[in-house]
Amino acid sequence: MAHAMLVGMASPTGPRRPLNRRERLVVILDRDGSRCVWCGRSLESGLVHATTEHLVPRVKGGPSWLENEVAACRRCNGERGHRTPAEWLQECAARGWQPDRAAVVRALEALQAAIAAKGGQRRARPYVVSQLRRLRRL
Ligand SMILES: [Zn+2]
Repeated sequence: MAHAMLVGMASPTGPRRPLNRRERLVVILDRDGSRCVWCGRSLESGLVHATTEHLVPRVKGGPSWLENEVAACRRCNGERGHRTPAEWLQECAARGWQPDRAAVVRALEALQAAIAAKGGQRRARPYVVSQLRRLRRL
């Protein structure tokens, strides 16, 4: 619902503008459910600070596209550091949290499809391929 509303806002009327941070978060929460993908805590109550996080880090060539972003709580976003999604997901599970592997895989598959459609992203491509391979084995 929120997704359709925001897409509607961004495209047919008026100049197209990029979604701001808050709008991106609304779209992502609507797509993935309102939980942190890493620890599973609800991001709806307002008690846990919600952020968006790049699956393929920007330093690894990850694009700033919605397909490369998931919702995470501020703690998990900060603690992930330089770990890959597969490494961090395993670490979260080892801590007894409830990471949403399916949501991470879905986002990476959507990113892979978006890269195939739009082209470019030569650095992000192999990162996505290796992460999907590792996550499917977990
Ligand atoms: Zn979290």
